[in-house]
This record gives sequence, structure tokens and C-alpha cells, in this order.
Amino acid sequence: MSSKAACPDKGPLAIVGSQLIDGVRSTPVPSGVVLIGSEGRVVATGPFDEVTIPEGVPRLDASGMTLLPGLIDAHVHLAYDKTIYSVCSTEDYQARLRARNAERELVQAAHHAQLALAAGVTTVRDCGANDFSILALRDAINAGEFIGPRILASGRPITTTAGHGYSGWGVEGVDEVRKAVRFLAGQRVDFIKFMASGGTTTPRTNITRSQYRLEEVQVAVQEAHRLGLQVAAHAISTDSIRFAAEAGVDTIEHGSWIGSDPRTTVTDETAVDWIVKNGVHVDHAIIPRPYQFPGEGGGPPSAEEEWWLSMLKVRWPFLHHMRERGVSVFLGTDACFGPWPGTAFWPRFQDLARAIEIIVQQAGFAPMQAISMVTSEVARALRLDREIGTIEPGKRADLILVAQDPLKEIRALREVEMVFRDGRLVARKGQVVLAGS
Ligand SMILES: [Zn+2]
Repeated sequence: MSSKAACPDKGPLAIVGSQLIDGVRSTPVPSGVVLIGSEGRVVATGPFDEVTIPEGVPRLDASGMTLLPGLIDAHVHLAYDKTIYSVCSTEDYQARLRARNAERELVQAAHHAQLALAAGVTTVRDCGANDFSILALRDAINAGEFIGPRILASGRPITTTAGHGYSGWGVEGVDEVRKAVRFLAGQRVDFIKFMASGGTTTPRTNITRSQYRLEEVQVAVQEAHRLGLQVAAHAISTDSIRFAAEAGVDTIEHGSWIGSDPRTTVTDETAVDWIVKNGVHVDHAIIPRPYQFPGEGGGPPSAEEEWWLSMLKVRWPFLHHMRERGVSVFLGTDACFGPWPGTAFWPRFQDLARAIEIIVQQAGFAPMQAISMVTSEVARALRLDREIGTIEPGKRADLILVAQDPLKEIRALREVEMVFRDGRLVARKGQVVLAGS
């Protein structure tokens, strides 16, 4: 059997003839083979003439296309219900919390998860919600009861009373922080989301200052690590980045380097020294905004977005600098946290490809580097690299096929032809494929 249409529900399967970006070789294989076993893992991979395909294994002819690892969006909020509110995006959070409809949020979260999956995102890291319902979605997907991306979930974030992302649970002082980490571990979260600074979408929090003292961040890290959990620290002010880095969090989210004047960007080499010393990873968590794609109807940037762009122009060269110092940097969309102040714009779950475009076209990274930031590099940072992030024998067959060559035109990642998760075809041409259909 050899045709472009042939693709069984489950392995074994040989995807043949595509350009192969496996995340291991520094250059692509022009015409490759990926052999998927019946367990949904990669069995063999390499140039077409070097891999033996056992007799009877169906072949999917992918010639002319490019095959690469499934994408990882390291920063999403699947359960924020934009039809009602975003966390603390209006002044009266108590009224909004009363208006919550948790069941509807969960259904929307499931929809959001499938939007990401159909766009080639086979793993998401959910960086905070109002409750723990995402864990049920995670478990249902893992059990094969619902088609979606692999989810790492943090449940509710640790934040101060009325702090960034507050939804009625304020955590103050080292004792409460320690207890909060233990509580979250008991809820079976995959990692701890720690709001180290204020946030732009939360009125009356301070985006120029850390929300916590260094000792509070340190106890969060110590306790989380004792329990085998990573800590992801939302840190946009320069002092919060330094605290998070010194405390040894696992990932710094955003890392915006906002100085004591919110209109300034103040990078801090001492903080980078701590980042390097403690092996901290940096999630650029860039939200692709419509005005960054001229000709697509987004209109000019608002005053707030002009400010944001001026900040990015300092941040981008500093990302190169951190990478040169050996820091791993990766990407997330922050979908669907919003709306961005001064705009009606909500980041979308299918926009990781646009985040990658920005990092190539505006931040000046090579396409191969940018692809590694959403595959191999982020998998290492999140300690998922034994399972996913590259296409190698033994790893899960999370794969995407795109029609055009993303190394020539990074925009090719917007048009994902096929998405495989654990070796199974889960989406085709932007549509989720139900089992047996
Ligand atoms: Zn976020």
C-alpha cells in the first residue's frame, strides 16, 4: 500500500519520502523514513535508503513535505473563559468569580486543546487556571477518552492576595508558600506556577516589583523540588527575575526585564549569572499580536502595543546573549490570557506558528534554532526529552507533516497537513480526526 491517503488509525506505519527535521541532526535529511511501531513509538528513522521497512507495514508517501517533531507550546491557559472574563482583567474580581461557570470553562478548555492540536501542537504546558479542572482534561486525554495534546497542568497558581492571576486564593509568607506547594502536589499537578511579579493584565498589581521576598521564592523551589515538581515563575520585573533565578526556579516565564519605571527595560547580568549557575530555562512566552503581521488586517499597534514592541526590541538581543551564555530559551503563546490592556485582542491557541515566525523574522533567530525552541530545547527544559522533542527510536511518535519547507519559509508551519500523537493520526488539514473516522 503506498498512497498519500493511506494512513491507518494506529501503527505500525512508515512515513516515507519527506524532508526530515528530527531535532538530532543539525541538517535535515532530504528524503527520510520514520518507522512507527504498534506501540506508537518511533522504531527507526533515517535516510530513505538506510532504513528497512518490514513487509506489510503501510507506507504513507510524504514526498515533497517536511516531517518534524510535534510542537510544544510551553505557556497556555486552556481554561480562561474569555466570554466572561479573564482572571483579574476587570476591577471587580469577586463579581467575576461569582459569574464563573466552571463546567462551561472545562468544555471551552477542551475545545482550546483541540485547536492547538490541530495546529500541530502535540504538547501544551498549562500555566495556571482558576481551579483544577484541567487535570481532569489531562487525565481523560491520557486515558484515550478524548483527543487532545499531552497536557502538563499546574492548576491554580501561587500568588499573593489580589496579586497577579488571583482568583480568591492568596498565599503569603514562607509557611503558606510551603503549604501551598504541598497542597498543589496533593492535587496531582505536574508543576508549580508561581507568580513572582505583578502582571500587565491584572490591575493594581505592580509590574515593576517582585510580589514575593527571596525567601518565599526559595521555599517554593525547595519544597517543589523535594516533591519532584518543577517551578515555573511568572517574572516580568527585573527584580523578580533575579529572585527567581537566585532561588533556582526551573523556568522563568516571560522574562520581560521591566525596570522600576515600567517604561524602561533593565537587563541584569547578575540575574543571568544566577540563571546560568542554577540551570534556569527561559520561556520567552511571546504573544503574537495582529499588528506584527502586516497585510493580515490587524491594523496599527495601540499605544500599549507600541510600548510592548519597544520592550521586545531590547529583549530580543538579550535572548541571543543568554543563549550564547548557554541558557536554553523556548516559546509559548500565553493563549488565552488577555485581553491585552488597551486592545480587544486575545491570543489564540493555534498561533504558536506565528510566535515562531516572530522569533525568526523579527528577533533574528535561524529557522532551525526557532524550531528547536518549540521541540527539542523545550523538551529538555521541561524534562520531557526522554519521551518527546526529537524524532528518535524509542521516543513517542509525536510528529507533524507540513506541505512546504519551514527552513526556506518559516510561515510553512501555519499549514499543518497531518498531526500524529503517539503514532496515531489525530488531525488532518486543521481538523481533528476522531478515532475510527
Ligand atoms: Zn500566562
